[in-house]
Amino acid sequence: MTDTQDTATALFRELTGRTPDGLWSAPGRVNLIGEHTDYNDGFVLPFAIPHRTVAAVGIREDGIGRVRVASTFAAEPVEVALDDLATLFPTATGSEPAVPEWAAYPLGVAWALAEAAGRAGAGVDIAIASDVPVGAGLSSSAAIEGATASALNDLWNAGLDKTALARIGRKAENEAVGAPTGIMDQMASMLGEPDAAIFLDCRSLEAQLVPLGVAEAGLAILVMDTRVKHAHSTGGYGERRASCERGAAIMGVPSLRDVSVGDLPRAEELMDDVTFRRVRHVVTENQRVLDTVRTLREQGARAIGDLLVASHASMRDDFEISVPELDTAVEAALAAGALGARMTGGGFGGAAIALIEADAVETVSDAVNAAFAASGFSAPHLFTVTPSAGAQRDA
Ligand code: ADP
Ligand code: MG
Repeated sequence: MTDTQDTATALFRELTGRTPDGLWSAPGRVNLIGEHTDYNDGFVLPFAIPHRTVAAVGIREDGIGRVRVASTFAAEPVEVALDDLATLFPTATGSEPAVPEWAAYPLGVAWALAEAAGRAGAGVDIAIASDVPVGAGLSSSAAIEGATASALNDLWNAGLDKTALARIGRKAENEAVGAPTGIMDQMASMLGEPDAAIFLDCRSLEAQLVPLGVAEAGLAILVMDTRVKHAHSTGGYGERRASCERGAAIMGVPSLRDVSVGDLPRAEELMDDVTFRRVRHVVTENQRVLDTVRTLREQGARAIGDLLVASHASMRDDFEISVPELDTAVEAALAAGALGARMTGGGFGGAAIALIEADAVETVSDAVNAAFAASGFSAPHLFTVTPSAGAQRDA
C-alpha cells in the first residue's frame, strides 16, 4: 500500500470502526500545453501525474441513506441525507454553500452521479487522503472528484464510462462548488495513461493518447510549484471567460474554437485591445496544441521546447494570468538550460513546468531556488513528474 492508501484506510477506520469495501484513486494532472482553451471548445494536452487522491469507501451497514465524508484536509467529517443532495445542489449563485467548500466536491459528485444514473445507491462512508498539492494548479479538485466518482460508480453499480464520470466531476465543480472550470482536468484525471498525454478536443470530448517519450529522449519534466495560491472560482478566471465569450460574440461564432490564426487581423479591427489580446491568446494557444501534438509525433519531446516558451509568453502578455513568481521560475529554468518552460493551470499562482535534461534536475532546481531567494520569494516546491495512470480501483 502507498502512504496515501494507508492514510485513507486509517481515516475510514477512525470514521466507521470498519474496513472499507475498497480503495479508489485518481491523479492530479499537469497540462503540457493548451491553457484556457477548454472552455472555448478548443484543444488541450494534459497528462496525469503520479500524485493521487485516494477514497476509501464502504456501504453503510445500518442501511440508512446517508453519505458521510471525511478528509485529512478537514477537521470534521460532513454528513448529509442522500435525499437532501438535490436540495443542497446546485448551489444558488451568491448564496452561502450548504456544506463546507471541500465537502461540496465529493458530495457534489454524489449528487451529480445520482442524477446521471437516475438514482442514488445505498448510504456510504467516504474517507479521503491525498498527496496532490492543493491549490497548486495540479488539479487536486479533479483528483478528489475522480476518486469519489469512480468509487460511487462501482458501489452504486451505475455503469458509467470514464467520460461520463469526468462530466460528473465537472458538474460538481461548476454547480455544487461554484467554480466555473472547463472539462480538461477531469478528463485528464480519468483517462491518463503511463507515458502518454491526452490530446483532448473539448468540443467533441474526443480524446487521443499521444506518447510523450520524455524519459526515452533523456529528458524530465520538472514541476515548479510557486506556492502562491490561486483562487479559481473568483475574479480573474471569470473575467477571462467573459472576455472570451465577448470576443466570440463579436466574431459571430459560437466559441473561439471557430476563430483561426488567419482571422486575427479582422479580430483586431473589431475589438478593443484587451478583448483582442485575450482572443489572440486562445486562438494561438489552440494552434500551439495542434503544433505540439504534430511535433511530438514527428520529432519527439526534444522538439517542443519553443512551443512551451511561446505559450508562456502568450499567457503572460496577452492573457495576463501570470504572476512574478511564475515568470521567475520559467526564466530561471530556461537560463539554466531548460528546453522549454511555461506556467501550467489556470494562472494567478500555482505551478510552472520545465522540460529539462534528465541529468539536469539538480542544476535547474538550484538555479530556480536561487532566483526565488534573490527575488525575496518564499522557496518553491520542486519535483519531477512522469505521465501516470488515470482513475482506477486500487483495492
Ligand atoms: P487545484 O485543483 O489546483 O488544486 P482548486 O481550487 O481547483 O485547486 O481545488 C482545491 C480545493 O479542492 C481545495 O481548496 C479543497 O476545497 C478541495 N480539495 C482538494 N483536495 C482535497 C482533499 N484531499 N480533501 C478535501 N478537499 C480537497
Ligand atoms: Mg482545480
